[in-house]
Amino acid sequence: MEWETVIGLEIHAQLRTKSKIFSGAATEYGAEPNTQACAVDLAFPGVLPVLNEEVVRMAIKFGLGVSAEISPKSVFARKNYFYPDLPKGYQISQFELPIVGKGHIEVQLEDGTFKRINITRAHLEEDAGKSLHEDFHGLSGIDLNRAGTPLLEIVSEPDMRSAKEAVAYLKAIHSLVRYLEICDGNMQEGSFRCDANVSVRRKSDSKLGTRCELKNINSFRYVERAINYEVERQISVIEAGGTISQETRLYDPDKNETRTMRSKEEANDYRYFPDPDLLPLVVTNSMILAVQDDMPELPGQKRERFMTQYALTAYDADLLVTSRALAMYFETVVKESKAQPKLTANWIMGDLSGALNKANLDITESPVATTQLAKLLQRIEDNTISGKIAKTVFEAMWNNEGDVDEIIDKQGLKQVTDSGAIESLVAKIIADNPEQVADYRSGKDKLFGFFVGQAMKASGGKLNPQQLNQLLKEKLAG
Ligand code: ADP
Ligand code: MG
Repeated sequence: MEWETVIGLEIHAQLRTKSKIFSGAATEYGAEPNTQACAVDLAFPGVLPVLNEEVVRMAIKFGLGVSAEISPKSVFARKNYFYPDLPKGYQISQFELPIVGKGHIEVQLEDGTFKRINITRAHLEEDAGKSLHEDFHGLSGIDLNRAGTPLLEIVSEPDMRSAKEAVAYLKAIHSLVRYLEICDGNMQEGSFRCDANVSVRRKSDSKLGTRCELKNINSFRYVERAINYEVERQISVIEAGGTISQETRLYDPDKNETRTMRSKEEANDYRYFPDPDLLPLVVTNSMILAVQDDMPELPGQKRERFMTQYALTAYDADLLVTSRALAMYFETVVKESKAQPKLTANWIMGDLSGALNKANLDITESPVATTQLAKLLQRIEDNTISGKIAKTVFEAMWNNEGDVDEIIDKQGLKQVTDSGAIESLVAKIIADNPEQVADYRSGKDKLFGFFVGQAMKASGGKLNPQQLNQLLKEKLAG
């Protein structure tokens, strides 16, 4: 039986404002509990919310980033429910009239092709506080620092057809909000999290299957695993003659499974109604134009430009534009070194990214500055060192052992380009290995690599590879 997976995501992006959406309290992460909650966040009687203008600007920015309609007028609504970390008894959100309407984003899939994912809407809302269950010995603590932190909820159409597509879309939005500098994208701290709605249907069906919603997943890997688990579960339920009931499920990363949290019947009726404390939100054309003026080059545009300007493949360009800082690092090195963009890209995505990952550092924290990497690439291109030796130099640079030229000098890594010296080494290797020479001459071409290896070993990898190849070919020809 041929099954099709259908996925729609609801992403919560915490907006990077200094103060909260309806109060002047600070939003900084990690403060002592309850030190960043003011009377409004604590819902004292008689307090009134005042909308933070920056939040509106950020939502418009996102809307423009996904080519969406920006609503001239949107409405804040109360979503009513009781929860200990929601002292008002309702969350202020947008329901019928969100600030951002229909939009879309192009997402690159694994095979390099692009797929358009449609965005239904994006609306503004406030976050709730946090209930803390650890360290309280059978009691719960409430931290209201997060209460009133601005969120943008981005709802997609059910356009994704696999867990991998869902992750690709999530990554595209993650990259976009960071480019726009409206969200720090920190998934561990919960600044960027998503609910995945998953259903399956037989390929011949035109109607969508019943969906389950997987709540609050905060890593790309978990999103992929949670969806894959859920798809298998739904298929086996249906194949065994059962039906899927609409419910909210939780993903448990330790057990790699999803479990029922609440069924649709138990779902809250939130009794949404327009918040009488807040006026409708009016966005004027001049506000939109002002934000437009402030838009950076977006990942998609940058990727296109990198492919034409630097002749990079879609794959390379896509990796380089994942963050604005990485793209900037690349362009700075290319400019400073005048090295081949492809060589530059390889070094940044290979050795540098590898070392950064291992040390758990971001590109902005790289111990190797752009000027240093540029110098290293120049030394490869002017044949002072081979690409292989450059790796040794890079390691020394990473460990702060000094400037590129200093390292090359101190460690005696300069490439041997003196053909006399190479010739005598080649002659010695030919003399020392008569059997291999005979085999090679009788047609075992593969042995060529053996001679290259011997020569490189004897020279500590310092021979110019082109020169060595040419001389070896000549001398081995007999
Ligand atoms: P709710 O507000 O109850 O969560 P929505 O209609 O806003 O419901 O849908 C939420 C998300 O679920 C959207 O991202 C949407 O694309 C997705 N979705 C809706 N129907 C399905 C389905 N049958 N399978 C998978 N995802 C779906
Ligand atoms: Mg939902």
